[in-house]
Amino acid sequence: MARKIGSRYTVQQVIGRGSAGTVWLGEGPDGPVAVKLLREDLASDQVLVGRFVQERAALTSLDHPNVVEVRDMVVDGDDLALVMELVQGTDLRSRLEREGALAPAVAVSVIADVADGLAAAHAAGIVHRDVKPENVLLDLAAPAGPGGAPRAKLTDFGIARLVDAPRRTRATRIIGTPDYLAPEIIEGLEPRAAVDIYALATVLYELLTGFTPFGGGHTGAVLRRHVTEQVPPVPGLPEGLSRIITECLAKAPASRLRAAELATRLREQLPYLVGLPPQLPPERAEAEPPLTPGEAVYTEVDAGPGTHRRRRGPAVPLVQAPLPDSTRDTHTSLRRPSDRELASYAAESQAQRREAAPAGHRKGRRALVRRRRLYAVLIAAVLLLAGAAAAYSAFAQERHAAGARPAGIHGVTDTHAQSGPPNH
Ligand code: ADP
Repeated sequence: MARKIGSRYTVQQVIGRGSAGTVWLGEGPDGPVAVKLLREDLASDQVLVGRFVQERAALTSLDHPNVVEVRDMVVDGDDLALVMELVQGTDLRSRLEREGALAPAVAVSVIADVADGLAAAHAAGIVHRDVKPENVLLDLAAPAGPGGAPRAKLTDFGIARLVDAPRRTRATRIIGTPDYLAPEIIEGLEPRAAVDIYALATVLYELLTGFTPFGGGHTGAVLRRHVTEQVPPVPGLPEGLSRIITECLAKAPASRLRAAELATRLREQLPYLVGLPPQLPPERAEAEPPLTPGEAVYTEVDAGPGTHRRRRGPAVPLVQAPLPDSTRDTHTSLRRPSDRELASYAAESQAQRREAAPAGHRKGRRALVRRRRLYAVLIAAVLLLAGAAAAYSAFAQERHAAGARPAGIHGVTDTHAQSGPPNH
């Protein structure tokens, strides 16, 4: 049944659910739209409503083909709604879950699109702060890009900032999704544009391999890895692409590329990626360790045309996992761990990473160990044989010498005995 939102829009059917609210297929004066109705508790928060109205101009003015356009913001009684362009397609998380890792050319093209969108936002002074596959929509109605890649659009701009009211974000809390959090956020610095680059490079890594570079296990362990660990290399990538990933995942924000430069450098890589298959065999999806209760929040999208199932957000929230539409934060809210806690996660995290290593990697490691054992056995066998041969030849010579001389001089003139009679 249709429902009115403000004086200009009606919504008919749910097309998606997120942590901040429900997304509806709607109709406006200029045709179909997507309407995100914020959760009731968010909509009744006066501070939030104030910020919403304040940010209206900034968010609705972001006009770029790789950013989902926010057309209107409506405050109507109890409703707080974001009216957006309707994207016909799916989000990147659903695509990853359905198909596993993408072919490198497709992954790079998608990320270059998102980097273009980010460049426009950063130029307008807007930092996204929650770049992750859930917030990248793939526009399947638009003509495909290089390698058949769908065109990508970044959504949820400014939502992190809107919901991140000062009284909610105490100094010890972090807002974001653990796998994509830049180290400087974990260390308590003000998030700037470089945090989006770090998150986007994490998404690229995930598209290429099927897993994030620092994810897996306890949230504290994930945070510690962001701060201290080096990026595990992705095998089989051209050197140039590996370098881009490493640069954008640099611990120091100033060392990361800017969004526009990232887009250019990624597109320069495309000719080297043509025909490269996806890195990750589909078996990896099955090998993924199951999530324990409270590790993830799932939402099911209502059945209907163009709808799909999706897994929500963070691997492991430290706080109680919220049910969709049931808590105040639109995304994971974490307590920042103390240095001691971070250090104590180290051993645990290493064990978990070994566990969580993709099946392919585990198999590779097992094969290597087997091969090393075989070499050791072969070398030992060769040494044993050589030793036996030497002992036998010494024994044979001794017997020969003993048979050729009188007993008294045995062993004293052995060399002469071998060299035969003198020449004179
Ligand atoms: P939240 O930010 O509240 O977690 P999302 O913005 O991720 O929620 O939206 C939830 C789902 O709704 C998305 O995965 C997507 O499938 C759908 N959706 C969101 N925005 C649009 C849009 N502009 N057009 C079409 N579908 C959308």
